[in-house]
Amino acid sequence: MTGQSHATLRSMAHSAPLDASQKLSKATVGRVLGYARPYRRQLVVMFGVLAVAALASVATPVLAGRVVNAIVDGTDRSVVVVLAAVIAGLAVLTAALSMLERWYSARIGESLILDLRRKVFDHVLGMPIAFSTRTQTGALISRLNNDVIGAQRAFTGTLSGIGSNLIALIVTVVVMATLSWQITLLSLVMVPVFVLPARWFGRKLQAITREQLQLNASMNTTMTERFNVSGAMLVKLFGRAEQENESFGERATRVRDIGVQSALYSRMFFIALTLVAALAQALVYGLGGWLAFGGSLDAGTVVTLALLLAQLYGPLTALSNVRVDVMSALVSFERVFEVLDLPPMVTDKPRARRLPRRLSPTARSISFDDVYFTYPTAQQVSLASLEDVAVLDRDVNQSVLRGLSFIAEPGQVIALVGPSGAGKTTIAQLVPRLYDVTGGVVRVGGIDVRDVTQESLRGNIGVVAQDPHMFHDSIVANLRYAAPDATDPQLWEALERAQIADMARRLPDGLNTVVGERGYRLSGGEKQRLAIARLLLKAPPIVILDEATSHLDSESELAVQRALEAALADRTALVIAHRLSTIRDADQILVVDHGRIAQRGTHPQLLERGGLYHELYAAQFEALAA
Ligand code: ADP
Repeated sequence: MTGQSHATLRSMAHSAPLDASQKLSKATVGRVLGYARPYRRQLVVMFGVLAVAALASVATPVLAGRVVNAIVDGTDRSVVVVLAAVIAGLAVLTAALSMLERWYSARIGESLILDLRRKVFDHVLGMPIAFSTRTQTGALISRLNNDVIGAQRAFTGTLSGIGSNLIALIVTVVVMATLSWQITLLSLVMVPVFVLPARWFGRKLQAITREQLQLNASMNTTMTERFNVSGAMLVKLFGRAEQENESFGERATRVRDIGVQSALYSRMFFIALTLVAALAQALVYGLGGWLAFGGSLDAGTVVTLALLLAQLYGPLTALSNVRVDVMSALVSFERVFEVLDLPPMVTDKPRARRLPRRLSPTARSISFDDVYFTYPTAQQVSLASLEDVAVLDRDVNQSVLRGLSFIAEPGQVIALVGPSGAGKTTIAQLVPRLYDVTGGVVRVGGIDVRDVTQESLRGNIGVVAQDPHMFHDSIVANLRYAAPDATDPQLWEALERAQIADMARRLPDGLNTVVGERGYRLSGGEKQRLAIARLLLKAPPIVILDEATSHLDSESELAVQRALEAALADRTALVIAHRLSTIRDADQILVVDHGRIAQRGTHPQLLERGGLYHELYAAQFEALAA
């Protein structure tokens, strides 16, 4: 089996189960009602409107019967005119009510989407960074879009549908029964003949629709994968265009076949329903006419009953499939709740302190005290359905940091060096509380980082990653992300100090040039300098920096070095150092190995001592230093 069809099967297994027999917990229903609570008044009005509309729709057949009687009796012509005028008035009223009902149901549904979307968005931003590392962004976005919209349907479509159909059904049956119990009974006896095929077709159609959605999705995946740059390149370089074409053709053919099938079934469904309704109507004319000849019914009532009967089966069909509609709407709600129920992991304590907006120069220390750390497992931070896997891996993560202690005094630069995978990035992530330690304490300014608010902590810390992220937006917007109130001269000063001003001036649109994933391509060094400018604008007392490892020519090397000097001046800094100049100037070097500090000291001290540092130095820096 090819990888592609594996993926298709996997995604098919994953799509929301719409099994009508599925049990949904009462809790879900309760929560859904909770979301509807703020709109209960609007809901009541909506149902009121529906009830009036149902009455109006029953009144018309009754009046039509009166018209017939008036004609048959041949009494007063004006009665016919008045009745016709009332029928016209009712038609206008029904139109107005229908607009009103739609306004309410749309308003309620869309407001519900708004509430849910904002909640999920906020919740996802509050999730631990581990969640973002595991989750497929596409799956998450689809949760925010498709499922939230599906949940909304429960309110607009399903709820108002059930409401109006139920009201219409009851009113119609009651009115029919008062006119002729025999004919009403006959119509009700016909109900199963009508409802059973409707249910069967409904289920069949739903299965077809689901398959159609899956086939379409799989066709889309193929296109997305092949059309992007890397996919297109792969197809060309391996000369697979023909096979690709063929396999795409197969998928597209299946999409066509299922499309035809779906069209035929919909039509058969429709035909069957109209046929049964027409037959029932014929029965009413037959039996009603018979009774009319017998004198127990008048002509008008026969017409009224026939017209009412036509209104009876529409709601019946709709209601016969209601369970499935409600279920699929609730499944969407559940999928949204599933995301909302993921615990945030890093949270503020109820009485967390606020660090001052800018820590005073003497309070800018960082200390690690016997810190242990293990990355959270997949089960703790993620959902299988968001990773597009059937089950989350059950690996128990190994300890990454094991009893690590050090102090960065205010104003010091601490360099972290060590082999890849030693735990340097992890150390850097614990300071701004992207994760919480599993043992020991991390302190900033002598205070446990878990005792202060995340906002005030992160306000004091500036981070420049190895490959810093820029939003797909102008340079100026990216810079102002750090300092919304920065003036243009301030922006330029930061760019100057970060050694990137010259380059910014040369750009086609200057500071308005769009950068980011699909924007102007900045080199690794330029991106880091821009990130340093962003950091300078934030002017945090504490800096965490992961130096770029990408090879830089000597000019950029010098520029980056100067930018780093600006970034580190007067701040306490933790630098994951790859650059000899940074390491030489550091107040203390920590050699990290297997989650522990293997050696510590200044560059000359460590060189003298030999050991791991000496080895690393020899391997990485001698060539550069030469
Ligand atoms: P360094 O920065 O020194 O190269 P890291 O701190 O990135 O090392 O990684 C230390 C160890 O932690 C590595 O073994 C790595 O595989 C593991 N690790 C890093 N990130 C995660 C994560 N999100 N989940 C699980 N393990 C991780």
